[in-house]
Amino acid sequence: MLNIIPTKYQAIALSLANTYDPCVLPIDLLKEDQTFKEFLATHTIVCLDKDLQILRSQLISIRDNIRKIGGMKSDNQALATLYPFIAKTKWVMNIEQDEQLQISPDSQDIEAIVQMVALGAINLIVKYGVNRIHYCKAQPCEELFCDVSKSARQVFCSKRCANRFGIAQYRNRKLDNC
Ligand SMILES: [Zn+2]
Repeated sequence: MLNIIPTKYQAIALSLANTYDPCVLPIDLLKEDQTFKEFLATHTIVCLDKDLQILRSQLISIRDNIRKIGGMKSDNQALATLYPFIAKTKWVMNIEQDEQLQISPDSQDIEAIVQMVALGAINLIVKYGVNRIHYCKAQPCEELFCDVSKSARQVFCSKRCANRFGIAQYRNRKLDNC
């Protein structure tokens, strides 16, 4: 599939999904002013102060929908969750300097930010399939990630979680043998 939106929006969609984690304080990074602004700065999202609250509530809404994808079995079901965020968008096409075709919303306001993030998540589903987007197996970690490995067998979000899971399994086996 052609990358017709900048790949950074796929990364932002996943990063947004992981702004909620019941095991880390603060649980919701978007609800705290400072961490919300840090999230925007990290992803070079520019927003006027007067629009911050609207952007926050819209990002929370799309984030909660992206997080639902993690447990879904069907691509169409996952896509249907996200389509409402882009349904009313008027899109424009551009040929970029590197001769890539790119599409973007025909507006510059905060709606455009939300629509591009939604499109980033949609692009992930279309490109990899929802069965490649899942939660880390090393509970209590709830990190959502997209398995882009060739083998399609990634079950942990990171090496750290894989190690933690391995040590826990080892300890359990030892206790069983006592
Ligand atoms: Zn993890």
